[in-house]
Amino acid sequence: CGIVGYIGNQDSKEILLKGLEKLEYRGYDSAGIAVKNEDGVHVFKEKGRIAELRQIVDQEVAANIGIGHTRWATHGVPSKENAHPHQSNSGRFTLVHNGVIENYSLLQQEYLQGVELKSETDTEIIVQLIEKFVQEGMDVEGAFHKTLTLLTGSYALALLDAENSDIIYVAKNKSPLLVGVGDTFNVVASDAMAMLQVTDQYVELMDKEMVIVTKDNVTIKNMQGEIVARNPYTAHIDA
Ligand code: GLU
Repeated sequence: CGIVGYIGNQDSKEILLKGLEKLEYRGYDSAGIAVKNEDGVHVFKEKGRIAELRQIVDQEVAANIGIGHTRWATHGVPSKENAHPHQSNSGRFTLVHNGVIENYSLLQQEYLQGVELKSETDTEIIVQLIEKFVQEGMDVEGAFHKTLTLLTGSYALALLDAENSDIIYVAKNKSPLLVGVGDTFNVVASDAMAMLQVTDQYVELMDKEMVIVTKDNVTIKNMQGEIVARNPYTAHIDA
């Protein structure tokens, strides 16, 4: 399973799909991408191989920001409905997740009474929580942070906000995730190999950091909200 993301000036679709193909070795049962342009967020997902996902991606849609996922099902059968990305009920937030949220059912009972769920995944709880906290008045970064403090288990996460074309929100805990740095773009990947196609500069992320990725900047914060400075390293990988 794996995660990719792209924000920059180029069309993201092919970069994301190629990235997912590089992560195929990790194993998966479903795959999906979400890209955002002026018209909104477009989600394409399918059970099965990346080759099958490719066939349903609308080539007419061009978008400079997007996230992608290969799923190794832990909660809910492999199906199109359970494939990632998952969206909050209003459609505003779109999330990909690798890992397992151990307390998802507790969180559902405590915070999401009356919220209708569209999948059987632990992941959907995360994106519905973010939406709920935003609806209660928090800003997106605050809602993302609050949600992270509630989660127990493992996660690599990438989040899109339909009302903001300039940010991918990222976090990890006990699941791998890196941010790749480019001149006029930045990327997200479970493994540098996925994005060597566009950059060999990577910033390592530590558990329970929260990262704001724009096309020009990577801002890492710890759970206390303090900015953490970290330089990229050069990834040397034999092709
Ligand atoms: N637990 C999530 C699910 O079952 C993510 C699985 C994964 O790591 O791909 O959908």
